[in-house]
Amino acid sequence: MSEFGELKPSDKCGIVAIASDEPVAKEIYYGLRILQHRGQESGGIATFDGGETRSKRGMGLVHEIFRAEDLAHLKGNTGIGHVRYSTTGSSVIDNAQPIVASTAYGDIALGHNGDIVNAGLLREELSRKGWAFMTTSDSEVIVRLLANELSHTGDVRRALKEFTRRLVGAYSLAIMIDGVPYAVRDPLAIRPLCIGTKDGAYMAASESVVFDTLGYKFVRDLKPGEIVALRPDGFESFRLPHPTHTAHCMFEWVYFARPDSVLDGRLVYDARVKIGQQLAREYPVDADIVVPVPESGRAQAQGYSQVSGLPVVEGLIKNRYIERTFIMPEQADREVGVLLKLNPIKSAVKNKRVVLIDDSIVRGTTIKKIVKILREAGAAQVHLRIGCPPIKAPCYLGIDMKTRDQFIANNRTVDEVAKFVNADSLGYLSMTGLVRALSHPKEDICFGCLTSVYPVEVPGEKFRGLEKLERFGTPPKKAESGEKKVRARAA
Ligand code: AMP
Repeated sequence: MSEFGELKPSDKCGIVAIASDEPVAKEIYYGLRILQHRGQESGGIATFDGGETRSKRGMGLVHEIFRAEDLAHLKGNTGIGHVRYSTTGSSVIDNAQPIVASTAYGDIALGHNGDIVNAGLLREELSRKGWAFMTTSDSEVIVRLLANELSHTGDVRRALKEFTRRLVGAYSLAIMIDGVPYAVRDPLAIRPLCIGTKDGAYMAASESVVFDTLGYKFVRDLKPGEIVALRPDGFESFRLPHPTHTAHCMFEWVYFARPDSVLDGRLVYDARVKIGQQLAREYPVDADIVVPVPESGRAQAQGYSQVSGLPVVEGLIKNRYIERTFIMPEQADREVGVLLKLNPIKSAVKNKRVVLIDDSIVRGTTIKKIVKILREAGAAQVHLRIGCPPIKAPCYLGIDMKTRDQFIANNRTVDEVAKFVNADSLGYLSMTGLVRALSHPKEDICFGCLTSVYPVEVPGEKFRGLEKLERFGTPPKKAESGEKKVRARAA
């Protein structure tokens, strides 16, 4: 155990909180379905019926968890919801959210997106004070900490401010205390969270796409360290002390968020198109077609095509009913999963020199299989272009990438990775290219998984204050100098 306690699996999740002058269960249900890409393991809703908190949680997809009678039971005009995606070890109903706890100050319901780095320490401290823990989840630590603070201060606002001061890490929270919904964003604004409104309702949600779909007007993103109390006719905001910069997670734009969401002023789709354009500038190649890895490489492929003039061809078709292979526990399952998920259009790729575009490489399992599929379908060459720099370090702040040895790029050159995945050439987007595409100053982004330098203190890791980001890679000087060519090998 480290100084900060054991590092826990992440909670890569989606949240909503709403206050309305009408029943909210259905609105939350639809909000969660729209955020389903942020978590497919479990989901839950808690509402306040005027007297007590009602809740239901379950494993699986949102539409599998809630039937019409469940939503009818979840009465009330305020509520919160959560979808969860964590590492498989903690995939149990006990860790599903919202967590609901009864206190002398009313029920607390909580949904968390992020990762608390000092959760282990806080858990020990609270256990010593006599608080009992029912689950292994960081989120329960947050609830108990809040309950503890409430029992001292007796004042909800002070308790919210005080308890967030103790948390180190990434947290976007949907909280309901005695029927009042709150939205909280950590002082570095690492995970997204925004507010929208329609007649008689205010809602906070992880991504703006929820508002588009449910007919809400986007109001704004929560500010770093902001705590917002939602009412049907408005919201009240109070803020925590916060640094002058943010640390938005770059991976939200690169892969995780939906392309039709606007995160902190930057449309995800636009960022991805720009990433593709940058890739084409950094790594041009003589080829015939650009093929995206669906879904996540689509927008990047558009960008690559715009700059290179090569046509985008849907050379790979996705079975949309197969779950994300990334989360399968066994390597062998993941490999079969890729085959179940993707099938090539042989006539589209046969004898073609293909530029294959994907958002990122983590273990390399997926892309290796995809290169093989394309070669077996007759592609003459496969040039791989990846929409973010090599992922080499764990994420402690809410993305499920935990151990260094899982990363194919760790201790391998670009050449070696290209050989491993059997690509004719491989180009990873440069750090500078990524920063340009995100249109945020680099000081305001977290690149921890690329640089091993983190915006919060993580035991055993470098803290951002100590090193300049410039140190971690610049784009190739000449157009092709960064491209690592390897000889094609038989598939
Ligand atoms: P692999 O290199 O086989 O581990 O898979 C990488 C691919 O999985 C990426 O191209 C993404 O599309 C997707 N991916 C990356 N990180 C995650 C994550 N934390 N959770 C789910 N999918 C991910």
